[in-house]
Amino acid sequence: MTLAKRWLTVMTNNAVGNHVITLLEGLHKERPNLLRVLTYHQVEDLAGFDQQMQYLSRYYHVVSTARVLEACKEGTPLPPRSVLITFDDAYRNFAECAWPVLKRYGLPVTLFVPTAFPDRPDHIFWWDRLEHALRHTGHRDHIQTPIGRLSLATNRQRYQAFLRLRRYLRRLPHSEILAWTYQLCRELDTPQPESQVLSWDELRQLANEGVTLGAHTRTHPSLDQLSSQEAQAEAVGSLQDLEREVGQAPPIFAYPGGQFREDIVQALRQAGFALAFTTIRGVNDLRYADPLRLRRINIGRRATLPVLRVRLLHSSWYLNQLRPLAKAS
Ligand SMILES: [Zn+2]
Repeated sequence: MTLAKRWLTVMTNNAVGNHVITLLEGLHKERPNLLRVLTYHQVEDLAGFDQQMQYLSRYYHVVSTARVLEACKEGTPLPPRSVLITFDDAYRNFAECAWPVLKRYGLPVTLFVPTAFPDRPDHIFWWDRLEHALRHTGHRDHIQTPIGRLSLATNRQRYQAFLRLRRYLRRLPHSEILAWTYQLCRELDTPQPESQVLSWDELRQLANEGVTLGAHTRTHPSLDQLSSQEAQAEAVGSLQDLEREVGQAPPIFAYPGGQFREDIVQALRQAGFALAFTTIRGVNDLRYADPLRLRRINIGRRATLPVLRVRLLHSSWYLNQLRPLAKAS
């Protein structure tokens, strides 16, 4: 566990730590026109998620993507303590766990959809396939991999093996990742898991109920492994799929895995995208931020309310550290 993670665990798991968080929140001076963007994928701790949304609805202004688009286009300022809530990958878990809670608190949300996956039970995210195979294989000893021998003796070791392999594979070209995952799953002799992605009918229903759907490529490749033309085709194709299936879609995009290059940002700008979200951690000052390179704050599936509060504070602290640099330049 890294020092930062250990610090987070200590801060968020005792009364003194919670008191310190409250104290720091009270000391924090908020500047206008800041946007914090939260990234979720799935929610496992439902009670924790409920507390987080209750907290955001009380102490922050949760804004819609339409409001952020207007702020970027027209220069209309955002309210103080603005937060945009986003979910990536369109897992069924969003509709089953997160959306009922968001609806109850009346909070707007944006869901980024990799559009080659709905209604395709044979299309499984490679990382889900890998995790499923490592968790369920009957092989009880170890596997040989490009990053060495990985033990599968305990559930914890299997999960550690998954995390290490995922980190390694993410740096490879998309076709190599798929081929490697397919080969390993064959060796581990596990059946393919069921797709966990929402169907187009379910996505249309969510859109009718007020969820904003955004483009997240078609096949979810790391864009930094593609040419700018291929990356543009993935992004534009995803937007066209949404327009065809749902009727309309705003020109917004989330980079898969947060990977991008300068020429890809320019290709998205040429294609007419108005907002694009990275996974670079931080808060956006909309007076200076590039709307096609917005920062986000990742919140894990088992995160509790104190974790959310620390993440929001931590990002603000970074911003304040950067302020003197911005003024001096
Ligand atoms: Zn994604």
